[in-house]
Amino acid sequence: MSTEGIDPAEPIATALDAIHSRIARAARDFGRDARDVRLVCVTKTVPVEGIRAALTAGERVFGENRVQEAQAKWPALKAEYPDAELHLIGPLQSNKAAAAVALFDAIGTIDRLKIAEAVSAAMQRSGRRPKLYVEINTGNEPQKAGVAPEAADLFIEDCRSRLGLKIEGLMCIPPQLGLISPHFALLAAIARRNGITGLSMGMSADFELAIQLGATHVRVGSAIFGGRH
Ligand SMILES: *Cc1c(COP(=O)(O)O)cnc(C)c1O
Repeated sequence: MSTEGIDPAEPIATALDAIHSRIARAARDFGRDARDVRLVCVTKTVPVEGIRAALTAGERVFGENRVQEAQAKWPALKAEYPDAELHLIGPLQSNKAAAAVALFDAIGTIDRLKIAEAVSAAMQRSGRRPKLYVEINTGNEPQKAGVAPEAADLFIEDCRSRLGLKIEGLMCIPPQLGLISPHFALLAAIARRNGITGLSMGMSADFELAIQLGATHVRVGSAIFGGRH
């Protein structure tokens, strides 16, 4: 079907309506308040026009997984939409910590002391205070970033007491294969026993399950913007 003459923003607005309905229904079904679940629109690889469509539709929370890509797309958008909140959801290297602290309002992938230290130093130098999330490698996958579940309590304690960091939440990316719910439940359990309220979990394929298990932030990309290339 030809899409000529159709407003390219329309499918994004329509998809966003559908996602919000599904979030509301999941919240209702699972006894949650939908206002406690924030939609993070994941805009990695999405061109600025697509992001603009989501902003026009009223979205204000966005996720990017690469510092450099976000630096290319976001400074102008943030100038235009000062209340937009940008989350880093991809791995961070310590040499990019200052750039990440300067641009992002939340850093979702703190997973080793070297990164926590670099972020802490950049925060002190800049005076900026992005919200910090610790990434947990709930599946103990060797190729994946994140703190091992059994090391999580000590790591969180180190971030708090040695670096004075406030940990806003935890995030995870469960393994591709197998049951997902144990991973969301594990993340929620680690958060609970450490007195942490934020839970960034759930993507296009599984955000309703994440809401059932306590997600406060669901990170949805392809269900809004279409497949990535
Ligand atoms: C890409 C990405 C998402 C969004 O994934 P979709 O399946 O497109 O919704 C969420 N979280 C992280 C960390 C990502 O890299």
